[in-house]
Parts: sequence; structure tokens; C-alpha cells
Amino acid sequence: MCLIEQLGDHNLLEQVPRAGTNHPATLEMFDRIGLYQRIETRGIVAPLFHYWDRGDNELIAEFDHIHLKDDTRFPYVLQCERIKIVEEAMALAKQHALIDLRLLTTFTGFQHHADGIVARVIDPAGEEHEVAGAFLVSCEGARSIVRKELGIEFEGFTYSDRTLNIEVAYDFRQHGYAERNYISDPEEWSNLFHWKGPPDRWRVHFPTAPEDDPETITHPAALQARLQRFLPTGRDFEIVATNLYTVHQRVATRFRVGRVLLAGDAAHVNSPIGAMGMNSGVHDAFNLADKLIAILRGDASEDVLDRYERQRRHVAIQHTQAQTIRNKRLLAEKDPAVRRRNHDELRRTAEDPARAREFLLRTSLIASLREAEQIE
Ligand SMILES: Cc1cc2nc3c(=O)[nH]c(=O)nc-3n(C[C@H](O)[C@H](O)[C@H](O)COP(=O)(O)OP(=O)(O)OC[C@H]3O[C@@H](n4cnc5c(N)ncnc54)[C@H](O)[C@@H]3O)c2cc1C
Repeated sequence: MCLIEQLGDHNLLEQVPRAGTNHPATLEMFDRIGLYQRIETRGIVAPLFHYWDRGDNELIAEFDHIHLKDDTRFPYVLQCERIKIVEEAMALAKQHALIDLRLLTTFTGFQHHADGIVARVIDPAGEEHEVAGAFLVSCEGARSIVRKELGIEFEGFTYSDRTLNIEVAYDFRQHGYAERNYISDPEEWSNLFHWKGPPDRWRVHFPTAPEDDPETITHPAALQARLQRFLPTGRDFEIVATNLYTVHQRVATRFRVGRVLLAGDAAHVNSPIGAMGMNSGVHDAFNLADKLIAILRGDASEDVLDRYERQRRHVAIQHTQAQTIRNKRLLAEKDPAVRRRNHDELRRTAEDPARAREFLLRTSLIASLREAEQIE
């Protein structure tokens, strides 16, 4: 397998902090390839997550993944950032005799033939090359060249507000928060997540108005003021990083055209509320890898690739999109009566072990994988 990546060892870590909550089903997949044991010590094992009401400063519901103890060997999420996972996965790839890993190499386009594909790449010296292969898998992220060259529509919408991410070195657990918190508020909902350091950092997400000027709202004084409104400590927070990002909810109309396949953000993007983007991308990759291996070994026909599209598009639309859109609506709901109803429902669900398990099967994406298995 030839793996093309435009970044290199020297700049791999210079990326905006992104995904980091790894759900139980994803941990099982990582375990299959020896990746879990490499990342466990670099992350935080987090069995609990919370829903809070910001206005009343009230814990609405606490969910414990222990309800999934009969469903998975990993009844918790691992808070471990994408970049650490990529670093460890790269180390595994470098040791693998059958992986031709080409860093600092940029993919620019491809030709599709009846019996294979030819990718065009630019190597670290700036030279153009062709790489021939049986299949091409686009894992290039949301701006996928492959998706655009194939003219595949990226159906969905983009939220007009942007999300502000502030990372602070401060231990929010002293105020009763869990490692993962979803905080509802009609004016300024929030998410709060803990990451392992040094220094340990907490990521706080806030919505911003479409008309907000990026420079003004990311000014250090404005960030401190926003954090003090969130948690008045009377002392400046130690801000480690900040960034502002646009959130899209989109799914490609096709995941397969002949020998070319889309996976991960190239195929679907969604809001990070619920931690489903990276996880479902990893699930695409494992689903597709199993099918490609079966084809290359002569154990399956290429038709199984259509099943990949049926399974993973179904999950992207019915689970990842539906759930993340619901999650944002839940946190941002303005109608007091609807908010009360939503919070009561969450409370009742968390208190009833059978309902809590059903809820966690959905939030941890186990239900999506079970449903996909039923799709022929
Ligand atoms: C702030 C934020 C927080 C998030 N939090 C979560 C979370 O908690 N949980 C979760 O599941 N998801 C989360 N997500 C979403 C998650 O980060 C993405 O879904 C995930 O990173 C997608 O992985 P990917 O490999 O498909 O694409 P990417 O992570 O975008 O990786 C694409 C790779 O392809 C390389 N590349 C691109 N173009 C080329 C080219 N032409 N040639 C060579 N190489 C190329 C890039 O350098 C990159 O390494 C978050 C997203 C954001 C923005």
C-alpha cells in the first residue's frame, strides 16, 4: 500500500488541535492493529460525561459508559487528540513492510482506468511522479481533490456561526465537571473537554455570531472576559491556544466511483458536538480496508465496495449527521419549555440503566456499526 501525506515529520505536529474523543468501538478497532496500547498512556480514560445547564450552573445528567460493559471491552472513551494518534499510527506504518509511506508528498490528481488508477504526486524535491495502483482511497480531508475531480456533490449546509475554541491550563474538575461536558445555554452554549499534557489543558468551545470580527473576539482580553463569564475565578486563565472554525454538515452523494473511494472527512463532515467526525472516519477506514483486503486476496468481488457505500453513507446520514445536528439544537435551544422538557428527558434517561445503555450505544456509535452490519 502506498500512503501519500503532504506533511512531514518536522511539521506534522503544527496542526490545529481537532478531534480527540475516541469512542469504545474506535478503541476496539485501534486495538486490532496494536494502536490502542500505544495511545492509552498518552490520553485520559474517561468513563463519564456530563450535561450541564449553564444558566442555573446545574448538572442535568451524568452518563457512565459502564452501562456498556457487556457491549464492549472498552466501557469508556479515551481523550487522546488526533495528532497523537496520527503520530503513533505513522510509527506503526513506518515499521510495516507492506506500507510505502511517502511524507512531504502532495497528491495533485489521478487517472482512472478499467483495471487500475494512476495518481499524480509531487515529491519532496518538487518532482512530479505517477503512482500506479489497483484502487485509490481519498482520505484527504474535507477539501478532497478526488471528490471535486469526480464532480461528487457534497450535500448539506454550513452553519452561519463559527465556533471559538479556547484551550486553557486550568483544572475544571474542582468545580464538579467531568472530563467531557456538554453545557446548554440559550445564549452561549459550550463544550468543555480535558486533554492530557503537560500541561494538562481543557478545551472550551463557544458559539460566535456570524457578524463577529475574528480579530476582536480572539483578542486576549476578549478571550479572558468570555472565560470569566463562563467561570468567574477573578484571575486570568492561562490560555494555551485558540482558534475559530466554521462547522459544516455535509455528506458526499457517492462514496464510490469504480476504483476510487472516499473515506473520512472527504466523504462527510459534521459538527464536533458529540465527537463523531474522526470516529466515523476511522470506522470507514476499517470497513473499507477489510473489503479491499478481501478483494485483493480473491475472496470477494469488487461489488463489496458498493456495500461499503451503502453501509457508511447510511451511517453518515442517519447517525452522524442526525445526531450531531440534534446535539447542537439541544445545547442551543432557546424556548424555556422545550429546554425544560429536553433536560427532564436527559435526566430520566441517565437514571434508568436500560435507557442509559440505549442512549450510550447511540452516542458511542456502537448502534451505527450494528445497524451497518445488517445492510447488504
Ligand atoms: C475543532 C475540531 C474538533 C473536533 N473534535 C472532534 C472530536 O472530538 N471527535 C471526532 O470524532 N471528530 C472531531 N472533529 C472532526 C475531526 O477532526 C475530523 O473528522 C477528522 O480529523 C477527519 O480525519 P480525516 O483523516 O478524514 O481528514 P483530516 O484529519 O483532514 O486529514 C487529512 C490528511 O490528508 C492530508 N492531505 C490533504 N490533502 C492532501 C494532498 N493533496 N496531498 C497529500 N496529503 C494531503 C492532510 O495533511 C491530512 O494529514 C473535530 C474537528 C474540529 C475542526
